[in-house]
Amino acid sequence: MIENIFMRGQKHSEFSWENLGDIKEGRGDLGEYVPVKIYRLMMYTMLSVMSKDMGEDKANDYFREAGFLAGTEFAKHELSLHSDLSNFISELQSKLKDYRVCILRLEEHDPATGNVVVSAYQDLDCSGLPITNETVCHYDEGFISGILTAYSGKKYSVKEVDCWANGNRVCRFKGGPEA
Ligand SMILES: [Zn+2]
Repeated sequence: MIENIFMRGQKHSEFSWENLGDIKEGRGDLGEYVPVKIYRLMMYTMLSVMSKDMGEDKANDYFREAGFLAGTEFAKHELSLHSDLSNFISELQSKLKDYRVCILRLEEHDPATGNVVVSAYQDLDCSGLPITNETVCHYDEGFISGILTAYSGKKYSVKEVDCWANGNRVCRFKGGPEA
């Protein structure tokens, strides 16, 4: 095996895309996908443990921050950041569909301000959750913000306004560049 000396000793606590590993090779017959239930089991147990330790708001902040890191890394490694907006969005849509994350739509875009409204159907994190009258997709807020920030070079803040968990059939996010 040829070792990459730059990778040697790099800890998993320091995120790198390469540390996601060679999934095809490692997973063999089990393949690259896991059931959504298993993904949610990890996500919502982690949220529960963190919320007990530091309070719900702080835990949600960390999920948002992790989502932002994920979004910027995803954008850098999976998307063409130099495409025009409509090509960028259609590439993003097809990647998110291929990865079974959600069916994404850009509902509104104001070229003057950069403000956007994005909806996500059949969302991985929340579709089918019990209705608790709250928006729960804080990781997604960060993820979308990270993607838009990586694409535009401006720091985007993104807020979920509709969610399956607050009684909608779709998650809807409003975003815009920070002043
Ligand atoms: Zn949601």
